[in-house]
Amino acid sequence: MEFKKCKRCGCFFVSNSEVCSKCEPKDNFEIIKLRNYLNDNDVISLDELASNLSITPANLARHIQADEFKSIYKTLSKSSSGEGFNNISISL
Ligand SMILES: [Zn+2]
Repeated sequence: MEFKKCKRCGCFFVSNSEVCSKCEPKDNFEIIKLRNYLNDNDVISLDELASNLSITPANLARHIQADEFKSIYKTLSKSSSGEGFNNISISL
């Protein structure tokens, strides 16, 4: 266990996850929305995902790089203009 800075609210917390316990439900909710959307739609860009799901680009970039979405992320990052997404640093 180590001190981490929450990727959503910026508070410090001790856990193995990326976000604090307060933000974890929000993350999970967005991941479920994302999963459902990807099941029902042909997605053409990350921008489309972000605006249709009301997920911030930074959070979307985090979710989409999870193992279950990795193939989609690869396709989208190749085909999209990358506007706003090339600049996102996923650094810790
Ligand atoms: Zn938080």
